[in-house]
Amino acid sequence: MNRNDFPILNERVYNKPLVYLDNAATTQKPKVVIDALNDYYLHINSNIHRGVHCLSQLATNEFELAREAVRQYINAPSTQEIIFTRGATESINLVAASFGRTYLHAGDEIIVSEMEHHSNIVPWQLACEDRGATLKVLPFDDRGELIVSDLDKLITDRTKIVAVAHVSNSLGTVNPIEEIIRIAHSRNVPVLIDGAQAVAHCPVDVQALDCDFYCFSGHKMYAPMGIGVMYGKAQWLNEMKPYQGGGEMIKDVTFEKTTYNDLPFKFEAGTPSVGDVIGLRKAIEYIQNIGLEKIAGYEQELLAYTTEKLSAIDGMRFIGEAAHKTGVISFLVGNIHPYDMGVLLDHQGIAVRTGHHCTQPIMTHFGIPGTIRASFALYNTFEEADALVAAVEKAKNMLL
Ligand code: PMP
Repeated sequence: MNRNDFPILNERVYNKPLVYLDNAATTQKPKVVIDALNDYYLHINSNIHRGVHCLSQLATNEFELAREAVRQYINAPSTQEIIFTRGATESINLVAASFGRTYLHAGDEIIVSEMEHHSNIVPWQLACEDRGATLKVLPFDDRGELIVSDLDKLITDRTKIVAVAHVSNSLGTVNPIEEIIRIAHSRNVPVLIDGAQAVAHCPVDVQALDCDFYCFSGHKMYAPMGIGVMYGKAQWLNEMKPYQGGGEMIKDVTFEKTTYNDLPFKFEAGTPSVGDVIGLRKAIEYIQNIGLEKIAGYEQELLAYTTEKLSAIDGMRFIGEAAHKTGVISFLVGNIHPYDMGVLLDHQGIAVRTGHHCTQPIMTHFGIPGTIRASFALYNTFEEADALVAAVEKAKNMLL
């Protein structure tokens, strides 16, 4: 599907065709996105929101059009609720710090799940340390599915927020976030969704979900690195203390007192990465032109095909066998160390990720050092899936 739109896919590694299956780490960029970056720096580069001059107005206009594109993409009610950040990590840190400073007190509790990326654990631990609060954990079972029935028991009168991934980057599990949000809201607890692994693979409607915060990165959805989004309901964002102080986020500054700007600017201190925001808009348009439903359907076919082929390999063990998954396959073969397998796959031109994938608690759960992870994007092919399977088989024969 649309492979020619991605120039890098023609690269060769070790004189072999590149088979890029590390899309959960970052996706490749279509030429329209690369061109948009070039055009920005060639023609309209200037700082935004502050200049009366023509280029500044052009750049500001493009920047705000991108905010509208993001709003539409996740069906947020208002562009005021779309905050640009450096990525999912910064988005979650923003909420943990600002929400924590505003609402969290000694003895309070925060709930995360056992399958979170470190970036949806550590910011909350920092907030807990600062405020004297406690982190609690919603477990998952051996298939890699959250035990959602435990959530109601975990929530207490002291629970201030639940933070959970939409899709697990290590297991591929699509979590039942609608149900999680419903349970948390029935106890008046807001919910943050880490959507880093979801936004490029399934449609997201923050109003239908009714989540309070939704965080993601551009670079995992065909956009440049260094740009991300934090969606938050205005009711929270208006009350929450700012994250960083600086230019743009203020209305008036005196040495005695500073008043803050309106949303979304209150949370956007300093000069943003304007070119990357424009690139994000191009990436969104690119996805929309193909259609997310079509992309999701195709990736599901790749997932089913590759899982079946891999399962025929002797000693194959899948980590993450949830009923509802995206195109992420984590596996181990016999007692081969994932790193050894990764190196041999690399030498065959196959880019996969090995290790704990920034989810050490998942590895602890299974008692393993890490996994080999193949993850799909819209441009991957069945031939590449075959190449992966053949390369795993070959590496296994060399290592066992
Ligand atoms: N959450 C999940 C589920 C992720 O997969 C990742 C990236 N691996 C992140 C958060 C962090 O994203 P970033 O590094 O782009 O900030």
